[in-house]
Amino acid sequence: MTTVENLVSRYREPLETYPLELAADWKKMHPDKKLVGCYPVYTPFELIHAAGMLPVGVIGAGNRLEIAHADSRFQSFICSIVKSTLELGLTDKLKFLDGIVFHSICDPARNLSSVFTRNFPDLMVEYIHFPQNMTSPHTIDYLMAEYKRIGVSYEQLSGNTITEESLRKSIALYNEQRRLVRELYAIRRETPQNLSTVECYVLTRIGTLLPPEEHIAILQEAIPQLRRRNEKPKDRIRVVLEGSFCEQPPIELLDGLEAAGCYILDDDFLIGWRWFSEDIPTTGEPLRNLANAYLNQSVYSGVKHDTREPKSKHLIDKFRDTGAAAVLILAAKFCEPALFDYALYKRALEKEGIPHLCLEFEEKMWIFDKARTEVETFVESMLFD
Ligand code: SF4
Repeated sequence: MTTVENLVSRYREPLETYPLELAADWKKMHPDKKLVGCYPVYTPFELIHAAGMLPVGVIGAGNRLEIAHADSRFQSFICSIVKSTLELGLTDKLKFLDGIVFHSICDPARNLSSVFTRNFPDLMVEYIHFPQNMTSPHTIDYLMAEYKRIGVSYEQLSGNTITEESLRKSIALYNEQRRLVRELYAIRRETPQNLSTVECYVLTRIGTLLPPEEHIAILQEAIPQLRRRNEKPKDRIRVVLEGSFCEQPPIELLDGLEAAGCYILDDDFLIGWRWFSEDIPTTGEPLRNLANAYLNQSVYSGVKHDTREPKSKHLIDKFRDTGAAAVLILAAKFCEPALFDYALYKRALEKEGIPHLCLEFEEKMWIFDKARTEVETFVESMLFD
């Protein structure tokens, strides 16, 4: 049996240095398989998988990559993940991919998609326009048409047809993966002393780089071990973390946040890989189920436009449901969707009298003392108030 400690120490290092190494190694062992990179936030992975390919999360480059070429292609005031993703491409570190998909999350991601199309003619670059109007009676049909269009590209790339049966099987497989990740998060919510944020993060992140079957097997081994843990709770404040739905904070920063005196009960890291709050039905028309799930079964996010309920209500509900004592906003520097949301969150949190702290991070961050001191001061102000 592989222990959780061994799993985390095995995978943490590559996630910090070159996160895509796991997927690149897998490709070396399966040279006939095609891999499609998925830029955050959400991709309908099932379509890629049903075409016989492996979806791979291209979710940044860790904090060791030197940005030497990408700077000249973008303006200065832009989030790190856009530059690091392009740098990966320009330094041939995405060569193992056969395709990549971007979505309508923000202007920088939209531009990155075009820059990829120009710079990497051998790579199939796709772009999904997610609906901006969730209340129109045509939204589901529109999204189905968009998925159908993408599906045709994947069929051409893989040489396989996406049948209803293959799509149903892929939906069932990813349902299982997401269910196990939900279980992992439930452990952290209920007994955060038994599962640190970094352990939870590493165990979730590897699922973006390995075939779902392998990730499911890892989680099936890890979860019972975590359920058996019986650590004594420390004197920390319980928080929910918001704002890291796209670019990912350095793992060392997550370590520092907890060490500064927080138990992070819930977060929005890697949210695109945990997008659905419940299983997508596997009966009926699978494409319609997938489109309907985006509208009606998905979690909120800074990049999902849904006027049916304000995002701040979701955050406050999450705060109350978890029994947290405060909210930590952790947003990527220059991430407009996250920072625009913060203005709304701040107003709602203040109205409800909920304490919060806002921090910014960058992917390539080395010094964590300032963030740690800010969190320590915040924690002390709450503990000794
Ligand atoms: S971090 Fe923010 S600004 Fe950058 S690509 Fe992601 S959503 Fe867009």
